[in-house]
Amino acid sequence: MKTISLTLEEIFNLAKKTLLTNGCDEETSNILSDLIMKAERDGSLSHGLFRLPAYVSGLKSGKINGKARPNIKKISSSVIKVDGNNSLAPMVLNKSIPELVKAAKDSGVAVLAITNSHHMAALWPETEAIAEQGLVAFACTSYKPAVAPTGSVKALFGTNPISFAWPRKNNTPVVYDMATASMAMGEVQVAKREGHKVPLGTGLSKDGKQTTDPGEIADGGVLLPFGGYKGSAIAMMVELMAGALVGDNFSFETAVKDNNDGGPPSGGEFILAISPNKTSDTKWQEHSDKFFEKMKSMGEVRLPGERRHKNRIDKGPRNINEELVNKIKSLS
Ligand code: NDP
Repeated sequence: MKTISLTLEEIFNLAKKTLLTNGCDEETSNILSDLIMKAERDGSLSHGLFRLPAYVSGLKSGKINGKARPNIKKISSSVIKVDGNNSLAPMVLNKSIPELVKAAKDSGVAVLAITNSHHMAALWPETEAIAEQGLVAFACTSYKPAVAPTGSVKALFGTNPISFAWPRKNNTPVVYDMATASMAMGEVQVAKREGHKVPLGTGLSKDGKQTTDPGEIADGGVLLPFGGYKGSAIAMMVELMAGALVGDNFSFETAVKDNNDGGPPSGGEFILAISPNKTSDTKWQEHSDKFFEKMKSMGEVRLPGERRHKNRIDKGPRNINEELVNKIKSLS
């Protein structure tokens, strides 16, 4: 793969210029470009610049409104409902997470029930932002069917990511962020682009056979949930929490409504924030730090999120796929 070296500022500027020329206003462009730059900085490669052409497709078709703002309504002391008004999820999150944090600090627990938002990013930016405020966070979202429930060869679930973040004093939060598919479709697409095989159990080809060829899975095949029936149950939970619980679609309903322009469809997201200062005693931070130390002392164990946080320390340029950069440049 031929790469081109771009500074973090150049990555931000490339994304911003592309978004501004394709219908986003200044604030939306800034918020999404910052997210894309941070994904590249952290090494979340399937959710950085790689996603920009898809966002542009959704903006061009008019499905996504790059100038809209969400409506945020506090239903009770701990429930906040957000109508994204077809804006991009990073815009929705930028405006609503401060409200969630405030409610969780006041009440001990609060939820954000987000609808009509276009999510195609990683989930760690939202859970990590909440944990940085001293709260425990959980988030999940669905998409369009790509994953077969255990027992089927047909897709019903989205790749349905879940993310959890735990706050730490004077340290980055411990964060996991993972698709409930055996592999995120973005990673399968990256493997296809770069000519790598994927492990058996990742997915099925369009004729329902197990395959290690990412192209066979991405083009008409189906992903499998991680961990067999257990992952299938968690993917089902995501459908319920980001669908019926917030008042938005299940993945299969999203697929019926979406215009298939390749951009992120309109859908729901569920976010939970809990204040350990309210649920625990004054020692919870010390107590959990000891647990993390114990984990890390056990051989090769590392904490989830650590890879990204290490990558983040390097403020230098990143090597970006040259073909992708040229494709993005042609969009503006
Ligand atoms: P990975 O399998 O790469 O990683 C999952 C988690 O496991 C990460 O938190 C990672 O931390 C951690 N991890 C990985 N290896 C280890 C290890 N050896 N020890 C401890 N922890 C480890 O992620 P996925 O491929 O499942 O998902 C990639 C991204 O795709 C996610 O950000 C997800 O939100 C996104 N996604 C978004 C969708 C959407 O619709 N918006 C749909 C599906 C996925 P670390 O980062 O530090 O490596």
